[in-house]
Amino acid sequence: MKNVKEDQELNRLNHSCAHVLAQAIKHLYPQAKFWVGPVVNEGFYYDIDLQDVVLKEEDLPTISKEMKSIIKDGKRITRQELSLAEARILFQDDEYKLDLLNQLDDEEAVISIYRQGDFVDLCRGPHEESVKACKNFELLKVSGAYWKGDANNKMLQRIYGICFFSPEDLAEHLHLLEEARARDHRKLGKELELFMFSEYGAGFPFWLPNGMILRRKLEEFWYQVHQAAAYQFIQTPIMLAQELWEISGHWLNYRDNMYTAKIEEQSFAIKPMNCPGGILVYKNDLHSYRELPWRLAELGLVHRYEASGALSGLFRVRCFTQDDAHIFLAYEQIESEVIRLIDFIDNFYQVFGLTYRIELSTRPAKFIGEIATWEAAEAALAKACQVAGKDFVINPGDGAFYGPKLDFHIEDSLGRIWQCGTVQLDMNLPERFELEYVASDGSKQRPIMIHRVVCGSIERFIGILIEHFGGNFPLWLAPQQLVIIPVHPENNLAYAKKIFNLLKERDYRCAIDGRNEKLGYRMREAQMKKIPIQLVVGDQESQNDEVNIRWHGSDETKVIKTDELFVLLEKQRQQTVK
Ligand code: ZN
Repeated sequence: MKNVKEDQELNRLNHSCAHVLAQAIKHLYPQAKFWVGPVVNEGFYYDIDLQDVVLKEEDLPTISKEMKSIIKDGKRITRQELSLAEARILFQDDEYKLDLLNQLDDEEAVISIYRQGDFVDLCRGPHEESVKACKNFELLKVSGAYWKGDANNKMLQRIYGICFFSPEDLAEHLHLLEEARARDHRKLGKELELFMFSEYGAGFPFWLPNGMILRRKLEEFWYQVHQAAAYQFIQTPIMLAQELWEISGHWLNYRDNMYTAKIEEQSFAIKPMNCPGGILVYKNDLHSYRELPWRLAELGLVHRYEASGALSGLFRVRCFTQDDAHIFLAYEQIESEVIRLIDFIDNFYQVFGLTYRIELSTRPAKFIGEIATWEAAEAALAKACQVAGKDFVINPGDGAFYGPKLDFHIEDSLGRIWQCGTVQLDMNLPERFELEYVASDGSKQRPIMIHRVVCGSIERFIGILIEHFGGNFPLWLAPQQLVIIPVHPENNLAYAKKIFNLLKERDYRCAIDGRNEKLGYRMREAQMKKIPIQLVVGDQESQNDEVNIRWHGSDETKVIKTDELFVLLEKQRQQTVK
């Protein structure tokens, strides 16, 4: 999906379209006053005070119609510059514009306004030359929005829309939006019985039996690839004493997001991150340079406070499992270890058909340590990307205060971007916890630490996978892999059971649908449940030791021998899990 805000030309077009929207609103609702109408990643919106009028979805076609007639009329969009005093006079009856003007602390400021026909708005621009450019637009939704996002303020009406240069681009975008709605993981999660939430714990997901199969398969795969890459596994406690979080700096910097409790008068915090636990494991022993890089991986359950209004399905939760690893290494090992990490993450995403883009975030304004160390670390990350043959973009000043990082932004099948993996260098925690290793000359040295995740949050990653696959999971992940449907349950059930047992022996997840329902009905239902493979067995199949196989999403059916079926399934299983 196009990111409207990042694309300069689309940004300008959408901003112009927001003005057309405002003009149409002013025609239809003369009492309207306008707050701001920014361009966002998904298009544009405008916040409007309509006094007592509350807009509904049904009002959007009328507003669209008025916008179309404004666009057809084709007025030019012109810019004019005013002094602050002149602008105050022009907008003297508009408390919203006056509020914006009063936010400027420079009395000499030049204020720009844009006019089109009978409409004028305070605006920085730039804009299209004429409203005609805005003809390929769509209004998407309407909602309430508090003025300045503050629940104590008045509720304004917010209208969302999007605009493109060609009708084809608009149609393509609307199609993707529709597809995204159909694939919404909250909807599919319910339909496929993967997970649930309870009123007794907003933001705390429950995994249902189907979802738990999916999750365990993902985790098994995760353990398998980490094992192969010489990681060792640990599990650290959910709760640890306040003193530990004071050393790590979380108590000072992250306390508002942490849940706390008292045990025997001692103050504890539930971990929002796994790092201090991993560090205690490192400190449990002496380490020689020969052991480095030492790779400790942990699927660690963390809890973080999120405002209830920000919670959203599996994407924003209050507890989640980080697929974390902490790697302790010598400074000169950074480059080779990061090359290895890029390769590892690359292979991991490939299994799911996810492409990605790397961003290198560099030293922020507030940082600790020496500039020379920072620059060397940033150069090592950049070099690692080059050696690994990966392009990257630089995100200047966006690193954490304790070190630079690489972020992996994956792209799903609908072209949406998600930040998942991250490789974070840390020169701070080893210092705070006084970590050491014995170097080859016998001296004590401080290791560097890498924090890294591949999925980010297992819960969120599964949410992304649900939408990426639209619930049509590859065979190895599907909660139920096969359904056997006897044509006439009274005659073919025994044969169905035989196939079922053979599949079970081979560790496939299958079931028999021997209900007394029409064949077509049962096949449709299997399709709705998105079971990857249907095996229909009738008299002929039972006599010949065959099955009639149909893959999910395909209309084709094929009769094959049961022996062939097992070869086919095994091949499929090998293909997906490398
Ligand atoms: Zn960490």
